[in-house]
Amino acid sequence: MKDRLLNEIKDAVIRGDRAGAEKLTRQALDSGIAIRDILDKGLIAGMEIVGNKFKCNEVFIPEVLISAKAMQTGTAILEPHFVKSGIKPLGKVAIGTVKGDLHDIGKNIVSMMLKGACFDIQDFGIDVSPQKFVDAAKVGDINIIALSSLLTTSMGAMRDTIKSLKDAGLRDKVKVMVGGAPVTQGFADSIGADAYAKDAAMAVDVAKELLKDRQPIMPLFPRKPKYTIVKVARKRDIPEDLWTRCEECNELIYNKKLEENLKVCPKCNFHFTLDARERVKLVLDEDSFKEMDPDMESLDPLNFEGPKTYKEKLKKDQEITGMKEAVVTGEGAITGRAVILGVTDSRFIMGSMGSVVGEKLTRAIEFSTQRNYPLIIISGSGGGARMYEGMFSLMQMAKTSAALARHNKAGGLFISVLTNPTMAGIMASFASLGDLIIAEPKALIGFTGPRVIEQTIRHKLPPGFQKSEFLLNHGLIDMIVHRKNMKDTLSKILGYF
Ligand SMILES: [Zn+2]
Repeated sequence: MKDRLLNEIKDAVIRGDRAGAEKLTRQALDSGIAIRDILDKGLIAGMEIVGNKFKCNEVFIPEVLISAKAMQTGTAILEPHFVKSGIKPLGKVAIGTVKGDLHDIGKNIVSMMLKGACFDIQDFGIDVSPQKFVDAAKVGDINIIALSSLLTTSMGAMRDTIKSLKDAGLRDKVKVMVGGAPVTQGFADSIGADAYAKDAAMAVDVAKELLKDRQPIMPLFPRKPKYTIVKVARKRDIPEDLWTRCEECNELIYNKKLEENLKVCPKCNFHFTLDARERVKLVLDEDSFKEMDPDMESLDPLNFEGPKTYKEKLKKDQEITGMKEAVVTGEGAITGRAVILGVTDSRFIMGSMGSVVGEKLTRAIEFSTQRNYPLIIISGSGGGARMYEGMFSLMQMAKTSAALARHNKAGGLFISVLTNPTMAGIMASFASLGDLIIAEPKALIGFTGPRVIEQTIRHKLPPGFQKSEFLLNHGLIDMIVHRKNMKDTLSKILGYF
């Protein structure tokens, strides 16, 4: 009877049957089965099977999510009885999506899985600043800080968070685990994280492993871990204003040398991000740039409030970048030939396209149509549509595309230059509509991150997927041009028209 009931609980979790899990857990509780058995042989056993299926690509995120909810429903019924059964939480985890990132699906799944596995969870939500994690760690009872990021552009915030913990003298007090689509073991190592979790199922194992030294107070899960954590020796401190580490090849580059080399890694040719002003300077003739609409600023149509309001976010990025918005547009010249230029800047809310970015680009496109000047747009945008503006942001994709269609019909030339990274709604609208599409070497270009695609199509992606070189071979872009040759190349192309 007991074993049958526990098996039924397990199956309910595997099926993702929330009502069933709830009913059966109550039944088990009423019939006097030990709380620990209900948890261990019922709820958690079921979730573990789902986790293994997930690792073997037999089930995918939606199924895991549904099962985790069923497990959580059961666990919630048992929770009031934990204390008298001598069950203590495995540890306390502060979890959040790092600053600059608003995507929380992955984080939510991990949070739920950890909760179901008896971790005490403090969920900070999205766009969480390093300071918030520092404050949480200071309070004293946090064991693990779990950082999630979906965007390549917000991965740097993981590094910042770890650095802030270190600066606050808290680094030895808490363990830090990281995860999310663009994150890799190599990246986790390079920023000094304690562990990397490839997916939500693994996150539970990783968290348990991180706290195994606390084992005496949690004899609940005696199983042997099924993986090992690669321990990383702390990297020697490097004065950050003098040297930069290449994110591609890990080479330490003297900053002065990096500047001289137009922010290109001398060893592996990785092109670091340039801001909009540097881009303008790089391609246009000296002092030829006349900016259009320099004072256009975003409104806050939705009165968006998250951990930070949209207004606060805008103000902060305006201070950091010295720009009013994420795009600069204007008229200029390339070797004496008049052009219209637009450049997005990934430092400003990830270079995402809100109403102002869409409007400024559309005006630039229309002006170029009117004058019959060639149009060049250089994109560097990890964000796509700007979520803070909801629908207003999404319609900018249609607006810029429609303006480009008219530009094309009028016989105008549009050269789209893609830099690292050009993703999502930017790539899905104007950036992919060039008569000629040029990319910088090794730039990440695509719509969705590779891991999400892998999970959706259920296939392993080929090496170098979504990098310029791969996309050139597959015909999505026309040429790859080194930064130092960009102006010359543009000038030559303009000469043909
Ligand atoms: Zn390099």
